[in-house]
Amino acid sequence: MNEHSLFDMMLVAWFALAAAVFVALFFIAAPYGRHTRNHWGLTMRARLGWLMMEAPSPLLFAALFVLGRNSLSWPIVILFIMWQAHYLHRSFIYPFTIRGAGKRMTVLVMALGILFNSGNTYLNGRYLFTFSGGYAASWLLDPRFIAGVALFVAGYVVNRKADAVLRTLRKPGESGYKVPQGRIYQWVSCPNYLGEIAIWTGWALATWSLPGLAFAVWTFANLAPRARAHHKWYRSQFQDYPPQRKALIPGLW
Ligand code: NDP
Repeated sequence: MNEHSLFDMMLVAWFALAAAVFVALFFIAAPYGRHTRNHWGLTMRARLGWLMMEAPSPLLFAALFVLGRNSLSWPIVILFIMWQAHYLHRSFIYPFTIRGAGKRMTVLVMALGILFNSGNTYLNGRYLFTFSGGYAASWLLDPRFIAGVALFVAGYVVNRKADAVLRTLRKPGESGYKVPQGRIYQWVSCPNYLGEIAIWTGWALATWSLPGLAFAVWTFANLAPRARAHHKWYRSQFQDYPPQRKALIPGLW
């Protein structure tokens, strides 16, 4: 069996796995952050866990770029920059901004994170730089590319701003939780997740690819149940939690 057939099989499995994860996560909140529980086994420093599980994404993507067989074009260069702008931050900056006095993550989450990020990066990078056959310069003016890049950038800004608000809730050395306030938190409990979903939906549009779509589906499958769990948790912990605030989608859910 050649690599192309394996790639196609893996892509189908990836969509199926996302559906299974979506259902499972409504019953079990992934054990990190406020949902960490002792019975999930060994733990490690959260900062190191984030770095280890996210780093495969920018590194493997760069390797697939170098090994790629498609000819270089502006759309490819822009898509490469978009991916790396997100993942270099997520891997090598975000972990060092986490506040929470010695917070820990289960090793299981870190290991599953490495598996997911490696598989996802392989599918997206191999497709973009080799199996897609390339993107012509005219793709730059295609409405799907323009809308996708715009959505990616909007999601990026919302995600970073929302994470920055959370960061300010703790003074150095603190590890508890407070009710986040501010413009984007008026509407939803998890604007960082909303931004992340917009980022990868934009990516799916801009790449107009099945691996891109699979990533967007995975992100939703991961983060929609987690937003629901966070929202329920806030409501159970804070009597005065703003009643009009939704979990993930302003005004709706
Ligand atoms: P959370 O919103 O749960 O937490 C983000 C950070 O803020 C953590 O350090 C957390 O501390 C802290 N924090 C959260 N809420 C409060 C509060 N009310 N008071 C004080 N501190 C708080 O996000 P995640 O950790 O799940 O995700 C982090 C980033 O990674 C997000 O941008 C998310 O979008 C992205 N991500 C993307 C995924 C994908 O599938 N593409 C999957 C998972 C995450 P603590 O850890 O102690 O709870």
